[in-house]
Amino acid sequence: MSDARIRDVVLETRGLTCGYDGGVVLEGINLRLARGEFVGLIGPNGSGKTTLLRGLTGVLRPLEGDVVLEGRSLRSYPRREVARRLAVVPQMAPAPFEFTVREIVQMGRTPHLGRLQGERAVDREAVRRALELTETAAFADRPATELSGGELQRVVIARGLAQESPIMLLDEPVAFLDINHQAQIFDLLARLNAEEGRSILCVSHDLNLASEYCERLVLLSGGRYVTDGPPEQVLTEERIQGVYGCRVVVDQGPGGHPRVTLLSERTQGHDAGTEADP
Ligand code: ADP
Repeated sequence: MSDARIRDVVLETRGLTCGYDGGVVLEGINLRLARGEFVGLIGPNGSGKTTLLRGLTGVLRPLEGDVVLEGRSLRSYPRREVARRLAVVPQMAPAPFEFTVREIVQMGRTPHLGRLQGERAVDREAVRRALELTETAAFADRPATELSGGELQRVVIARGLAQESPIMLLDEPVAFLDINHQAQIFDLLARLNAEEGRSILCVSHDLNLASEYCERLVLLSGGRYVTDGPPEQVLTEERIQGVYGCRVVVDQGPGGHPRVTLLSERTQGHDAGTEADP
């Protein structure tokens, strides 16, 4: 949090309360994303992470509080202006219909094009780069309906990259990817963050990926803010057990970051057995 205070804040919520017809889901959230930060948003299922992303993009209007994008209330921006500053990679890929991969990625350029304006060299280059970075160029001309879930997920990430917005919000971008592609996507996000200074807020189910790649983690539970800070401060055994309701061991992974291991009932039984042995 101290970092976010010193650095330029590009996106923040001030006492944000929002929800659906069924009622309030998030209450009084104060979140800050500083320029060039790579922040992980974590918390159990149903804690409000996706709802918070919807609030941050204006899809859900605040019931109370406000969202501030680069110093101005989100309400004061035309949608197109928001999309130029902020790219969203949603959790579920939209139904791909008959579009080709390239056409889907080209949609990322929409906020940069005037009405009736054709594709320019700069747009083609952004699309080419996004396809290359996500390793989707090989099937750029195939219909998206033919892709596997993991391939489609990379295409949706490519669309977000083609948007070339300085802020990226991602909702579990690696949920359907194998471990190799998980690492590639997080490596890519880390490069975009370090080399291009993009500010990234990424919802992650995987505490260990979040721990390894994010400089700061924000933990939500039951629609409330619990804590935030560097992974070693947030990912403690007591806190994870308290919030997720399961037993874990936290030690240090090979990269020096906290590593969380679930203690399953089997492991705990095994533990008890070992301890009982003379
Ligand atoms: P997370 O992303 O942390 O799993 P969500 O933001 O998806 O959590 O959900 C938080 C709460 O909001 C849950 O109780 C969920 O049932 C509710 N919720 C999510 N989406 C909707 C919706 N479209 N309409 C009504 N309630 C919703």
